[in-house]
Amino acid sequence: MATGHFKQGIAGGRLSPEQYADNFSDLHPPLDHHEALVESDRCYFCYDAPCMNACPTSIDIPLFIRQISTGNPIGSAKTIFDQNILGGMCARVCPTETLCEEVCVREVAEGKPVQIGRLQRYATDVAMAENKQFYPRAAPTGKTAAVVGAGPAGLAAAHRLARHGHEVTILEARPKAGGLNEYGIAAYKSIDNFAQAEVDYITSIGGIDIQNGKALGRDYQLSDLTRNYDAVFLGMGLGGVNALRADGEEAQGVTNAVEFIAELRQASDLATLPVGRRVVVIGGGMTAIDAAVQSKLLGAEEVTICYRRGQEHMNASEFEQDLAAANGVTIRHWLQPKRVIAEGGKVSGIELEYTAMDGDKLVGSGERLTLVADQVFKAIGQSFIPSALNGSGALLALEAGRIKVDAEGRTSLANVWAGGDCIFGGDDLTVSAVAQGRDAAESIHRALTSNGRA
Ligand SMILES: Cc1cc2nc3c(=O)[nH]c(=O)nc-3n(C[C@H](O)[C@H](O)[C@H](O)COP(=O)(O)OP(=O)(O)OC[C@H]3O[C@@H](n4cnc5c(N)ncnc54)[C@H](O)[C@@H]3O)c2cc1C
Ligand code: SF4
Repeated sequence: MATGHFKQGIAGGRLSPEQYADNFSDLHPPLDHHEALVESDRCYFCYDAPCMNACPTSIDIPLFIRQISTGNPIGSAKTIFDQNILGGMCARVCPTETLCEEVCVREVAEGKPVQIGRLQRYATDVAMAENKQFYPRAAPTGKTAAVVGAGPAGLAAAHRLARHGHEVTILEARPKAGGLNEYGIAAYKSIDNFAQAEVDYITSIGGIDIQNGKALGRDYQLSDLTRNYDAVFLGMGLGGVNALRADGEEAQGVTNAVEFIAELRQASDLATLPVGRRVVVIGGGMTAIDAAVQSKLLGAEEVTICYRRGQEHMNASEFEQDLAAANGVTIRHWLQPKRVIAEGGKVSGIELEYTAMDGDKLVGSGERLTLVADQVFKAIGQSFIPSALNGSGALLALEAGRIKVDAEGRTSLANVWAGGDCIFGGDDLTVSAVAQGRDAAESIHRALTSNGRA
């Protein structure tokens, strides 16, 4: 038999190799040269372009599109990388439908925006295929910076610091660099090992040494870094996962969605990845959608997302919600988990309670519903784990559980900056992490060059 679809419980190998390959192919296939020219021609090259104002990294979108339309994709890529050195990944993963493309005048006028994301991918792909490097390093400054975490924030900070002539050491806890680009982003958004290719592209500027398997709080303390480097940038992301607060959530088959996705992203053979037949995902953000869609693509029969508020409150964009629906995922609203039902220690269902708004407070209605499930994913948000910062002598100030920074990314400790998901006030998007890493690096550079030491 070609497929193992009959397999009970949580099992791998439900599909044929061809189905896996097809299911996990590129979500938005690249534009070819002709398509890119035609699409770029749709841009009005607006003055004071709304798309550019909506981009967290402020890429000059009309300029890069014009460069494509005049047959200059390399110049276009430079325009993009000037602001966002991870422009290739952002072209693949940005929720453009809620950023640049949402405000594009063609979206507003005719409901069909210029496909800015796909054009950005076209230009950056051309430059990266040629390994075109745009930024010679400035003369060495003799200054050193430690960057904790090789995610989008850390990589953007490292590249900008290296460009200014500083020596950068990235200390990364995991075996590979890339952060959630490598371990989190849905597989169909970043195919062909693009995350690693981008890390290689970024580090080929020189002056960036990535050391893997080096965790802050375990292998060294913050005080070691402030002693040994002129400046420190913290880009550690969010290591914790919120609990369901439902009885019995320790049952076998109840998994953190981010762990499942990380395993999926690292699997060399998707057929070996176990998935349930009836999967329930608790949450309403991008992680919930990604876990649900990928479960379905791995061969789960029924996948249901349960979210405690209404559709209009979901963090996942309309596009993401439509993607889930198009893949056969059911999204149910106004339901909160109360109890995981287990048989022999293994999850067999989940009991949920209907919710409603009472004024501005969400309350349980007392009415319950049981869904059969052999796998339950928790996707109700991640949290910053401050314990890695302890033991450093002076503790960093936090705000609402994340690192407190000023407008330049400076923390409460001299010499220490932070950016990306680990800081308070962000929106937990790749492109915002890039902007914060880049801007903190500029602040570090100003401090290092004006004061000698930050
Ligand atoms: C499942 C999922 C899907 C997502 N999909 C999208 C999407 O489609 N589009 C989008 O824009 N955003 C998406 N996001 C959000 C996006 O991935 C993050 O906002 C972005 O990766 C944040 O970058 P960062 O550099 O701050 O953190 P991360 O990418 O989390 O990188 C942090 C790095 O620090 C390392 N680290 C952690 N602790 C330590 C320590 N103690 N010592 C040393 N290193 C440490 C980690 O291993 C990691 O490599 C998604 C998030 C998740 C969880
Ligand atoms: S808003 Fe749309 S049409 Fe105007 S510059 Fe941006 S992409 Fe072009």
